Amino acid sequence: MDQRSLTPEEERVILHRGTEPPFSGKYWNHNEHGTYVCRRCGAPLYRSGDKFDAHCGWPSFDDSIAGAVSRKPDPDGVRTEITCSKCGAHLGHVFEGERFTGKNTRHCVNSISLDFEPEGRSVERAILAGGCFWGVEFLLRQLPGVLDTKVGYIGGVEENPTYEMVCSKTTDYAEAVEIAFDPARLSYEDLLKRFFEIHDPTQRDRQGPDTGRQYRSAVFYLTGDQKRSAGEIIGILAGKGLEVATEVVPATKFWPAEDYHQRYYERTGRMPYCHTRVKRF
Ligand SMILES: [Zn+2]
Repeated sequence: MDQRSLTPEEERVILHRGTEPPFSGKYWNHNEHGTYVCRRCGAPLYRSGDKFDAHCGWPSFDDSIAGAVSRKPDPDGVRTEITCSKCGAHLGHVFEGERFTGKNTRHCVNSISLDFEPEGRSVERAILAGGCFWGVEFLLRQLPGVLDTKVGYIGGVEENPTYEMVCSKTTDYAEAVEIAFDPARLSYEDLLKRFFEIHDPTQRDRQGPDTGRQYRSAVFYLTGDQKRSAGEIIGILAGKGLEVATEVVPATKFWPAEDYHQRYYERTGRMPYCHTRVKRF
């Protein structure tokens, strides 16, 4: 289970059943739509729709997400402690019979035991090819606003392409990276600019030491807006005297590559041999 490292104050509350001072936390007076998750393990615990104002200075909920919160008698012999069902983090206490809401229940939770994920964070996708996918993925992952990446194959016709098939140069697949990004933090245009800086878009059907059509430079656009943006950015590069070989083509099915290719440099601790950033914008 992935667990965050905790600050001393978080440890005091979450591991040692502490209580934050009332009216001191981030969420007692917080009214956005979304989901409150466990600070330690990220498990979803409460929905904003179940939150109400109990005027007590701690976030209060009259229900939890099914199965997410466990109850047990508090060592004080009076109250009922609530914990994250997944990781056991201390959340606070639950009280019944106070008649605040129809459910007659109050989960009184320390803000510090929670994180908040706003509803409707939009995610946009992009698919880019710029030579060996190990290096392209490694460098694009460093860009703030990139949420996730996957390396794979796109542009050919065979079903279930493998690395061996693509390397045999008998398919039209390109090594590519599928990028999930948060458009509120990173525009598609800025993603493209970085893409054009970390590979050499003037090389045709090769990238550095890697030759073959599977190493071509290509933008596989998913929307008309992405197509337009790619044309504009390539126009800027042409204006700077670059003879851009990048193909701008509609995306076809993206096939994720074998697991051992995913986040290759992060896992091996090596550095890309094939890609470095050259400032072009
Ligand atoms: Zn947890």
